[in-house]
Amino acid sequence: MRFNTELLRGNGIEPSPKREIVPPISQTVSFQYERMEDLERVFRREKSGYAYTRVGNPTITALERRISDLERGFSAICCSSGMSALAAAILAICQSGDEILAVNGFYGGTYDLFRNLDRLGIRTVFAPEGSDPREFVTERTRAILGELIANPSLSVLDVPRVADFAREAGIPLIVDSTTATPYLARPLELGASVVVHSTTKYINGGGNSVGGVVVDGGKFPWDFARFPTLAEYRKYGKYALSAALRNDVCENFGWALAPTGAFLTGIGLDTLGLRMERICGNADALANALAATGKVEVNYLTLPSHPCHKTAQRLFRGLGGGILSFRAGSKERAFRIINSLKRATIASNLGDVRTLVIHPASTLYLHSGEEAARAAGVFDDTVRVSVGIEDAEDLVEDFVGAVESAAE
Ligand SMILES: *Cc1c(COP(=O)(O)O)cnc(C)c1O
Repeated sequence: MRFNTELLRGNGIEPSPKREIVPPISQTVSFQYERMEDLERVFRREKSGYAYTRVGNPTITALERRISDLERGFSAICCSSGMSALAAAILAICQSGDEILAVNGFYGGTYDLFRNLDRLGIRTVFAPEGSDPREFVTERTRAILGELIANPSLSVLDVPRVADFAREAGIPLIVDSTTATPYLARPLELGASVVVHSTTKYINGGGNSVGGVVVDGGKFPWDFARFPTLAEYRKYGKYALSAALRNDVCENFGWALAPTGAFLTGIGLDTLGLRMERICGNADALANALAATGKVEVNYLTLPSHPCHKTAQRLFRGLGGGILSFRAGSKERAFRIINSLKRATIASNLGDVRTLVIHPASTLYLHSGEEAARAAGVFDDTVRVSVGIEDAEDLVEDFVGAVESAAE
């Protein structure tokens, strides 16, 4: 099956016992049993069944199965947000004294999470852009973490290359694929061990609920002496991480996604392929039109001027994704352009069906410090655009008009 067919007809879609086509919202905390013995068996994990929504819920399971299949994973665990999904993946694998090697990115919230992890004794080591990440691996490195497409720099993680040395070093590679989506690439197929998404963004697409997901590829050969947090789940072998995420970290920290959020995210997921096709086309048209004005410096992956253009072409079938940014010349001019746009919403989100625009230096990177902002490709005059599904001609007219008039 091709991408769009699989979204609607894939193996991950289980027929509902009550014949609903759309998985209904199981808006309940707990599940009732006729006999105490049956509930005991569920608690002992001898019998599959739902008991309590923090641990499992049919609406959430339906979404997990679809995302796991879509990413070619072994199993997926939904979380209350992209941040809790990232925290879950790291805390399932690492403990105090361990190090994370950070290789590409990061989203502002992820930087802040690294600081929290530092307080728990889990240190983050950054491999600077352009360096050889191998040089930063130490005895204590227990995870390599990177964003497939960082934003707004749009720096691309060369997953096959990093996965090769991660495999040799016996360290799992965790990829935050939020901005790429499985429509552009499947990190597990490229050699990553774990994929994380903020489903808040493209997977939902409607901007109506916060959520996240961790997908375990189920192939990493865990050495339980090196990864003692997973030792309790040794009997699951290669699937130990899935078991630990579900029955340990997510359950105990209480990071469950709400059933209504899972329902809305599932509806959004139906159209992921259609939306991404349209969004990538719109973003490419807009990037080229803005570049042609000669009045702003445009950053987009299909433009040959982008330093990661070739890697993106190789990994993403020539697509550039939905985010672009441009430098307006000054903060004042950036604000003037943003304020004069009529068909873009000023908001701090991305992956929405609507085109969203923001000045990252004064918002998303306000508290990150100069160095983090520069590393992310954020300057005082940077405007970030998350391109939506409107008609390309309308977006081009609006943005080119705003850029031309701000230059006068
Ligand atoms: C938004 C985002 C997150 C955090 O996700 P939330 O759902 O907002 O918690 C993590 N990584 C990336 C790349 C993001 O864009």
